[in-house]
Amino acid sequence: MSEAETKLYQPAEDVKKTAYVAGMEAYQALVAEAEADYEGYWGRLAKELVSWKQPFTQVLDSSNAPFFKWFADGKLNASYNCLDRNVEAGKGDKTAIIFEADGGEVTKVTYSELLERTCRLANALRAQGVKKGDRVVIYIAMGIDGVVAMQACARIGATHSVVFGGFSAQSLRDRIEDTGAKLVITADYQVRGGKQLPLKGIVDEALTLGGCEAVTKVLVVKRTGAQVNMTEGRDVWMDDALAGQEATCEPEWVEAEHPLFLLYTSGSTGKPKGVQHSTGGYLLHAMLTTKWTFDLKDDDVFWCTADIGWVTGHTYITYGPLALGGTEIVFEGVPTYPDAGRFWKMIQDHKVTVFYTAPTAIRSLIKAAESNEAVHPKSYDLSSLRILGSVGEPINPAAWEWYHQHVGGSRCPIVDTFWQTETGGHMITPLPGATPLVPGSCTLPFPGIQAAVVDETGKEVPWGQGGILVVKKPWPSMIRTIWGDPERFKKSYYPEDFKGQLYLAGDGAIRDAKTGYFTITGRIDDVLNVSGHRMGTMEIESALVGCTELVAEAAVVGRPDDTTGEAICAFVVLKRPRPTGDEAKAIAKQLRDWVGKEIGPIAKPKDIRFGDNLPKTRSGKIMRRLLRSVAKGEAVTQDTSTLENPAILDQLGQAY
Ligand code: ATP
Ligand code: MG
Repeated sequence: MSEAETKLYQPAEDVKKTAYVAGMEAYQALVAEAEADYEGYWGRLAKELVSWKQPFTQVLDSSNAPFFKWFADGKLNASYNCLDRNVEAGKGDKTAIIFEADGGEVTKVTYSELLERTCRLANALRAQGVKKGDRVVIYIAMGIDGVVAMQACARIGATHSVVFGGFSAQSLRDRIEDTGAKLVITADYQVRGGKQLPLKGIVDEALTLGGCEAVTKVLVVKRTGAQVNMTEGRDVWMDDALAGQEATCEPEWVEAEHPLFLLYTSGSTGKPKGVQHSTGGYLLHAMLTTKWTFDLKDDDVFWCTADIGWVTGHTYITYGPLALGGTEIVFEGVPTYPDAGRFWKMIQDHKVTVFYTAPTAIRSLIKAAESNEAVHPKSYDLSSLRILGSVGEPINPAAWEWYHQHVGGSRCPIVDTFWQTETGGHMITPLPGATPLVPGSCTLPFPGIQAAVVDETGKEVPWGQGGILVVKKPWPSMIRTIWGDPERFKKSYYPEDFKGQLYLAGDGAIRDAKTGYFTITGRIDDVLNVSGHRMGTMEIESALVGCTELVAEAAVVGRPDDTTGEAICAFVVLKRPRPTGDEAKAIAKQLRDWVGKEIGPIAKPKDIRFGDNLPKTRSGKIMRRLLRSVAKGEAVTQDTSTLENPAILDQLGQAY
């Protein structure tokens, strides 16, 4: 470990003083409680946090493992838990959502208003023939309408599947077909970064591609009012569908295992999987992690910058913060419009106290801030912040330090939350008032989560040794199955190699030899073997980004090599314009020497390729399988329609 990684940051006294989980003793006590009586622990929390229409009598049913059931005979409704319950508790006039549109207009909705809007849409969906168990695809931009659409589905027991508004017609079609959705909720257009982008037009195209015959209705929200085609008998303007609908709607009380939603993984590693989540167990963990990881209090202003098209937007926008009666920001736009100070300005304007974003956003904002003072966080008043969070990819120590110092004013703890679409909520994460922090480490499992690092046979490896990240016991918000493909579920997550006993996360990890802290080393298929030395790609990426003078972003993959077995290939975005020719050669040499010094000569990349940017999925994750093809010099055959910036593939063709 480099020096930066061994530096410990103790929890700030003021955060610790009032935290739900205050100090490591409190954390350890919860861990011990779960260890002593696993079901008792989760049962206690499920009773304390979730409102049940019919209480459960059994916590965990493992009779058909790995298809675990939680709280199976309990009945509840997720939308009741998020909305009615808060109104009944006297929070009707409290602001639930502060929405900021791309252009800066701000709209606030209270819990009462959100409940009314949800009920109207729930009634409208019922009027369109949507029943419990039907699937509804939501293809819409960030906004109150999206949250209302999800809540309305939950209210009537329809299973929603949100498809991120940046996906192509083909990707949308694939998802609609796979879910067998009956109805699609969309908008005419979306506005991002000052541009109007079609939504309804893409739905039309998707539906003509075939395979979506189950769709009988498309509800269209008017966002910009620009021209769209409406197909008679199928397409209905949202306003017309809502007209005359009552503002109250009896919730459909569903079994705890009822599928609340299907969500497709981002597809960084292969064909996206339709992850099926439950209602009861999912909601419990959404609430519990929002409460403990973000220490969410009644007067906090919470901002999760994720899109509702990703699981982060489900758990930490639509369900967790609302079920706790919090106030949250929903943002339509992008971090760089009208300039790269947008996030900092919004934190200042809305006095955000808890801020949760992704390393990819932080890295790009660092790059912008370093070349333009005006968009540097120091040009804004960020003193309202008390807790910062990170999710989606490993955050390298250099970006962590910048986030801590410049955004958090060196006073806010950073919760580096490791989790997945499949896990429903945080799995390994610091708790802000308890866990001493180490930049680049997601620290310790959330209380009750039994994470471990094992070898290929499933045996736990000693601390200090890298291996495969697994979870030893089922947990309430875990994936229930892959929609329509239970065999793939078993093979992917409970493989025979581990006798079907361990949940395989698909990521590699290493625990610190002294503290037992976890560091994610990258996807397991990203482990490199160079002349017999095994190395995580993440370590090399971190070293490259640690060269803060030069490097803004880096991705590392392996390619076959005759002499070393595998060769390291690095893709680098510099803080200065992309170099070519002799300049590129000189910088490549400088970077090799740097990595050699940081990690060791064995880790020096053989090829270095420079781009203005890296190929990313729409959720901002680096497309590693694509980079592997580029590194090998193969033609790229993967679907690049989900790429944010296909043009840069050409630049990356040249290796130095
Ligand atoms: P697919 O499964 O289709 O390849 P994906 O894994 O990118 O897509 P998600 O479920 O959105 O889809 O992402 C989960 C993954 O993101 C984790 O398995 C891990 O690789 C990475 N990740 C998320 N948070 C962190 C974190 N805090 N530290 C390190 N890695 C993280
Ligand atoms: Mg994954």
